[in-house]
Amino acid sequence: MTVYDESNIFAKILRGEIPCNKVYEDNHVLAFHDLYPKAPVHVLVIPKGAYVSLVDFSEQASAEELKAFWAAVAKVAHDLGLTEEGFRTIANTGLNGGQEVPHFHVHLLGGKSGDKRCSSRRIQGVRAAIEPPNAPSTNRRH
Ligand code: 5GP
Repeated sequence: MTVYDESNIFAKILRGEIPCNKVYEDNHVLAFHDLYPKAPVHVLVIPKGAYVSLVDFSEQASAEELKAFWAAVAKVAHDLGLTEEGFRTIANTGLNGGQEVPHFHVHLLGGKSGDKRCSSRRIQGVRAAIEPPNAPSTNRRH
């Protein structure tokens, strides 16, 4: 089991020892802008609990924490206007995942409208892959 490092930078942000540019907060979750943004919008969403990684959080967090976390991810994406055009979510995990800060966090990256990843051809390709050809247009996944 990985031991949580209380001196990591996000623990310091949660304790108010260093500042952050906050976008959302509730009893279980804090979201703030990344200090070194890699996209026009780059926000980090973190649980307030001491969880090292996505695996640690997924296995150890309470149902209330899990629900609050993912609800906050969706709310922040909505509030920042990312849901219409789409955005990326990244959770780097451990050494091979390139995780630099050992407190679980999800990156939300958006606003790359000129990026070829967001081209209409690619979006059509994704739609074709997830929707059967004869599916009615109102068909929604639940
Ligand atoms: P990781 O590589 O662990 O997935 O991501 C850590 C992220 O934290 C990086 O994108 C990095 O830019 C960001 N970061 C590192 N130090 C600070 C800080 O002091 N404040 C904020 N807001 N972000 C930070």
